[in-house]
Amino acid sequence: MRVLHSITSMQKISKEFQRQGKIIGFVPTMGYFHQGHLSLMLQARKDTDKVVVSIFVNPIQFGPKEDFKRYPRDLKRDLKMVKDIGVDIVFCPKEEEMYPEGYKTYVRVKELEDRLCGRFRPGHFQGVCTVVLKLFNIVMPHIAYFGQKDAQQAIIIKRMVKDLNIPVKIKVMPIVRESDGLAMSSRNTYLNKKEREDAVILYRGLQLAKELVKSGINDSAYIIERVKKFILPKITKIDYIEIVDYKNLLPLKKIEKEGLLALAVWIGKTRLIDNIILRNKKNI
Ligand code: AMP
Repeated sequence: MRVLHSITSMQKISKEFQRQGKIIGFVPTMGYFHQGHLSLMLQARKDTDKVVVSIFVNPIQFGPKEDFKRYPRDLKRDLKMVKDIGVDIVFCPKEEEMYPEGYKTYVRVKELEDRLCGRFRPGHFQGVCTVVLKLFNIVMPHIAYFGQKDAQQAIIIKRMVKDLNIPVKIKVMPIVRESDGLAMSSRNTYLNKKEREDAVILYRGLQLAKELVKSGINDSAYIIERVKKFILPKITKIDYIEIVDYKNLLPLKKIEKEGLLALAVWIGKTRLIDNIILRNKKNI
């Protein structure tokens, strides 16, 4: 496993892989790995010849009052965690090289970027799309792996790839959870013991929604209300709980076939997101 920091050395190696006819799998991350990250790498290992993982806490996807400074970073720990996975390259670009003085170019996916998390994190998805496109141009992967945990992100990246004819296949992998159901996230390290215990309510809320749909209820407003009431005692604030169409992220009044229930809530000073795909089996 090689650790690279410079953009030109990464591009050079990727070109060499391409010349040798190797299939490159790519997992972009912000580091501080957990099993969710590792699941993407393992899938890449299965599908491709060369696995490249990037670690970059991307400043332009954080708002001025967000947690960019305190986001957990520990390269030594990350390298130890992936040493037996079969990762070929860990690419950790420097901020100054990614965004040198005079940097001016940004990518936006209109409308989709304004929904769900976009309403509360203006500029976030512009930052994500910009860095992902830059990383695609540097790593030149055949397949890139993203997690369903960030469902809106995956939908937006897929749209960007389609709209800009980027020659990469996007694979979205299921949410990896702790044994009690909490979706794994680097930000879970912010939670104290009590908050960590309370956080399991999110998963239980999603399960409640699933049960309601299973029992024949398909009215989104009713389901959302029930989930809200259920989780409120354990959380500090709700940014949103919505049931939306998977393709355009617009609210669905009724779940005819499928709906994405996505939520973002605060537990103390920590913002957590989670989601579930609700399926109305009657109509599928
Ligand atoms: P991050 O380092 O948080 O930017 O995440 C890097 C990639 O890992 C993104 O594609 C995330 O969606 C994915 N990811 C994060 N948490 C999970 C999880 N619990 N299960 C599956 N994928 C995840």
